[in-house]
Amino acid sequence: MIRIENLCKVYKNGKIEVQALKNISFSVVPGEFVAVMGASGSGKSTLMNILGCLDRSTSGSYFLDNVDISSLKDNDLALIRNLKIGFVFQAFNLLPKLTALENVELPMIYAGLKHKERKEKAMLALEKVGLSERMHHRPNELSGGQKQRVAIARALVNSPSILLADEPTGNLDSASSEEIMGIFQSLNTEGVTIVMVTHEPDVAQHTKRIVVFKDGEIISDHPVNDPIIVR
Ligand code: ADP
Ligand code: ADP
Repeated sequence: MIRIENLCKVYKNGKIEVQALKNISFSVVPGEFVAVMGASGSGKSTLMNILGCLDRSTSGSYFLDNVDISSLKDNDLALIRNLKIGFVFQAFNLLPKLTALENVELPMIYAGLKHKERKEKAMLALEKVGLSERMHHRPNELSGGQKQRVAIARALVNSPSILLADEPTGNLDSASSEEIMGIFQSLNTEGVTIVMVTHEPDVAQHTKRIVVFKDGEIISDHPVNDPIIVR
């Protein structure tokens, strides 16, 4: 599903060059649930931006569902992003003036669906994350965990190939974090492929595989076998 080979990303600010990703190769197959970890500045956001077709690599290749992303024109890149990628962010990124239901309908407006179908699908997606009774509430009337559930429903409503989450529990207390990870786990059990950045080892333990970055390189990549956290 995701195949990255010898990926490099160099940022240039005037004469200063930062090598944010150094020759990264890895793959994600359908059904995986991957945690991406590493210190601040290790390249996690850069990787997610490239995986999410928000940015391009400097060199190397990226295949998403066997499409060579690195060779696409900007218009096609935007199309792939809308069709194949679902995003969940740390800060939820919901539109404050829209209700939960309307926020979830947004990606389907861009996809050109008619109002009735949008509404039906949005209601189903909110039901899936256990938020049906809050669908007419605006974000400021929802808790952090509830906001993130709306964001997850919005990310999944167009049935993307992959769900990308950048610190999805970063703004949540531990109870809400557990709740969100429970939702991710059940979505993953139903077949949703997830790649998630997190700083929190407890959160990473809920995934199936942990990839650790350091200074733009992968220093470890291993399955999560033992769900028991040693304290
Ligand atoms: P992380 O998400 O792990 O904190 P980033 O991918 O944001 O890491 O950053 C990796 C490196 O690239 C850091 O040294 C960061 O300062 C640098 N970097 C990230 N984005 C830019 C940018 N737009 N311009 C210049 N340097 C950048
Ligand atoms: P995160 O909290 O997800 O690790 P960062 O704080 O590393 O994110 O980066 C936030 C945004 O700022 C990203 O879009 C990244 O590309 C950009 N950025 C990070 N470092 C730099 C930098 N040195 N110069 C310019 N932009 C940067």
